[in-house]
Formats: sequence, structure tokens, C-alpha cells
Amino acid sequence: MPFRDLTGHRRLLERTARAAARGSLPPSLIFAGPEGIGKRRAALALAQLFNCASAAGADAETAPDACGQCPSCRRIARAVHADILIVEPGDTGAIKVEQARQLIERSAYRPFEGRRRVAIVDDADAMEHSAQNALLKTLEEPPAASTFVLVTSRPDVLLPTVRSRCQRLRFGALTPADVATVLMRDHGYTETDAHAAALLADGSIGRALEGDSEAYADARENVAAMLRALARNPDPRGRVAAGKLLGADKGDRHEMARRLRLLASMLRDLGLMVCRGDEGALANADMKTGLEPMITSFEGGRAVRAFSAVDEALSALERNASPKIVADWLAFQI
Ligand SMILES: [Zn+2]
Repeated sequence: MPFRDLTGHRRLLERTARAAARGSLPPSLIFAGPEGIGKRRAALALAQLFNCASAAGADAETAPDACGQCPSCRRIARAVHADILIVEPGDTGAIKVEQARQLIERSAYRPFEGRRRVAIVDDADAMEHSAQNALLKTLEEPPAASTFVLVTSRPDVLLPTVRSRCQRLRFGALTPADVATVLMRDHGYTETDAHAAALLADGSIGRALEGDSEAYADARENVAAMLRALARNPDPRGRVAAGKLLGADKGDRHEMARRLRLLASMLRDLGLMVCRGDEGALANADMKTGLEPMITSFEGGRAVRAFSAVDEALSALERNASPKIVADWLAFQI
């Protein structure tokens, strides 16, 4: 997703985008800051800006930004762009020297399809010392048309020789309001729950989700099961049974509203997958393989219609309609 779709870090991102567009951004960078605040997404947004086919130009008011729609932007979001190299820890939890060597080798060529190669090392502090040493020369003098971004929440674990060769961009914690925005938009939280969770989250989306992980995972699993059942167009009895997975019989309106928001976010993802949209924008990227088999069932506008039905169900619930009646009604609309 382009810079404008990232939450928080406004000034830092704008400064970075302007420097990138001017050609004055140093080619070896460390994106440092707490866990779970969007550093890797920012690195991908930078890669999009460098390679976008129709990047929006800058003026005094707006910083330059990628379009998010062109083939280049979409391939970067799906992590299949030939010039965007991403290295992350393997099964052992470490980034090995062979991975660093491969990265150096692959970044030695001119970009294949884009204007600028971007090599992103995620969890860069997991690099073994040998891997960091192997990278020194490249970080000192990267190949022309290449940018290296080391993403880390523990920059001080990196060797001083690595740190001294990179310009450090400091990402701060998100504000509670930013965290709440993301929790509502992407994770099905009600406004009250989102603000409560955000206050305890120390500016990290990751931490906010952890705090509530069991109930959240449970709600998500039920909603995914409901969607799978309805995707098959069951008979009326099957529909009512699927609707029960919204948990209306527990009488907890908050919990049901959360499940409806989760359902809306999965339907939005399905809609995006049906029209082959930017997969970097998926709110439930971790569920992609679970959603994929449902794509054909939700073609032809069904995802969009179902999404509006969930929206209606939510407002009915807010207007104090009976949860059970809302759940039954919705089960016949999806
Ligand atoms: Zn673009």
C-alpha cells in the first residue's frame, strides 16, 4: 500500500517520500522503531514510489506517492516484483550468511523491470554476524539504482559497522488514536473496544491484538466458518445454523458486533480478491489461503451485496434490534 494508506508516522513518511523523489535519500537505510507499527509496510511503500508507473507528483501541500494501482505497485504489494528483494529469518529464526550473499549477488544487476531495486531485510537484527559482515561493503557503496532497507525493532543489536553505514529513520510508537483506527478498520473492533485496547497497547497494533488474542481468534474462527458454510448456498436450515456462529444466543451485543465487523472485513477482502485488487491491502492477509476457495462463490457482486447486508445488520444491532433476528436475517442475505 502507498504511503497515504499507512497509519501514523505522517511527517517522517512525507520527508522520506520527498527525499526519495528528489533523489536525495541515502541508499542504505535502517527503519527502526517498535514492533507492529508498520515499518515493513513503509519499506514496501518506498519501493512502490520508486517504481510506480504513475506516481502522483508533489507540491507544497502533498508529498509524492505511488498510485497503488499500476502493475508495478500491485506486484510489489504481492511481493512478486522482480526488483524488490525481501530477506527475512528462516525456520531457525536467523538470517544466515548465504541469504546475505544471495541478496548481494541479486542486487548487483541493473533492475529488471523497475527503475530502482529495493532490498528489504526484515527483522534485520536476526542477521548472524557473518551475514552482517558480508553486507558491509554493499551497504558502504550499494550498486547504482539500488536501495537497502534494514527493518528492525532492535537497531542496537546490529553491528556498529552496519549501523554506521546506514542512515537511521526513527519510527515512533503510534498514537492510541492511530492504533484504534487500525483496530476498527482492519480487525473488527467496536469503537469502545478499540479505544480501550489502544490505551494498553503502547502504540503497537501487534501488542493490542495480543492482549485480546484468545477471544479475537475465537471470534475470527467462528466468522470464517460461517462464511464457508454460507458460500456453499446451504438450505434454509443450514443458513440458520451458520447464522448461529455470530453468537447471538449468548446475548452479548458487543461480541456480536465484533463478529459482524470481522465478517465485513473478510467480505471486503473477498471482494478485493474477486476483482484481483491490491493484495497488500488485504486486512486478513494471513487467511488468504482460507478465503481463496470461496472466490468463485462470491463473484458477480455477491461479496459487495453481502458487505452491505452486514452493514445493515450492524446498524440494526445498534438500533437495539434483537440479535437473534438480525443473525437469522443476515444468514439469508449472504
Ligand atoms: Zn503505481
